[in-house]
Amino acid sequence: MKAVVTGGAGFIGSHLCDHLIAEGHQVVALDDLSTGSESNLEQLSGHPDFELVKGSVLDEVLVDDVVAAGDTVFHLAAAVGVHTIVDKPLESLRTNLHGTENVVEAAVRRRARYLVASTSEVYGKNDAEGLAEDADRILGSPLKSRWSYAAAKGLDELVAYVHGGASGLPCVITRFFNIVGPRQTGRYGMVVPRFVDQALAGEPVTVYGEGTQRRCFGSVFDVVPAMVRLLETPAAYNRAVNLGGKEEVSISELAQRVIDLTGSDSAVRHVPYEEAYGEGYEDMRRRMPDTSLAAGLIDYEPRWRLDDIVT
Ligand code: NAD
Repeated sequence: MKAVVTGGAGFIGSHLCDHLIAEGHQVVALDDLSTGSESNLEQLSGHPDFELVKGSVLDEVLVDDVVAAGDTVFHLAAAVGVHTIVDKPLESLRTNLHGTENVVEAAVRRRARYLVASTSEVYGKNDAEGLAEDADRILGSPLKSRWSYAAAKGLDELVAYVHGGASGLPCVITRFFNIVGPRQTGRYGMVVPRFVDQALAGEPVTVYGEGTQRRCFGSVFDVVPAMVRLLETPAAYNRAVNLGGKEEVSISELAQRVIDLTGSDSAVRHVPYEEAYGEGYEDMRRRMPDTSLAAGLIDYEPRWRLDDIVT
């Protein structure tokens, strides 16, 4: 495989690059290093089958050039993280809409199969236990403060589907549910690395809101091989597939787990949402994937437990 990984210097993208190189593929990562970092790829520097191109998915000419060298495109580049989205909604919208259009259109022009990374946020306020792929999605229940991210990702799915259908190329959409693991930074609002950093520094572990909101964290080491397998599975083509973990936890329980696992003497401090993100911020109460579609398609079975991910 000659793979192009947009967002390859990011958290999930860099693990995907590692995995593809370990499997003997050629990889070009395209990243503007806005939330990603070259240090995530230093283990691959100098590898004959690996190249990092620094630039934006908004640069149509560059994207076309990079994609021309590949036969498979994994599109992960996006403006991500609650802070980025809340502080820069328009910039996020531009990256997440036009960036995806550029990448998918280039893939189609170059006849490359492609995967587009989407998110559990397309399910909006829906807090059903075990969200299946046909559950109600954002258009019926937007979360206002996260609308630009969720709506853009919802439209990205459409861009992927419509081009996939029209071109007949293999295309897969993955909806990630709170993926965590090494190299994820807490700087942009990701809760697990933020709690770990606070606990290791002996600072208060800050839980936003009451902490009763529930999440289910998935390991990057489970989802990365699943992405590759989905692109090799014709029954997955032109479908959106949930990928995540299976252990549900409240954010208060998570804070305590992190404190216990790191042997920290930090206390838990509750911070109102408005203080963390400004007036009018809304969060979803629950986010829990139903991964039975992935299980049926590729025998997806999350192996990593939350405690192992944190330690
Ligand atoms: P990340 O921030 O580590 O990765 C995103 C990467 O995209 C970064 O390296 C960043 O520098 C790059 N990028 C941003 N704008 C760019 C641009 N204009 N041009 C080129 N590169 C650009 O975040 P991640 O968690 O690894 O997310 C990867 C993908 O998975 C994203 O599409 C994200 O929306 C999706 N996702 C992740 C999660 C999760 O739990 N981590 C959940 C849902 C969806």
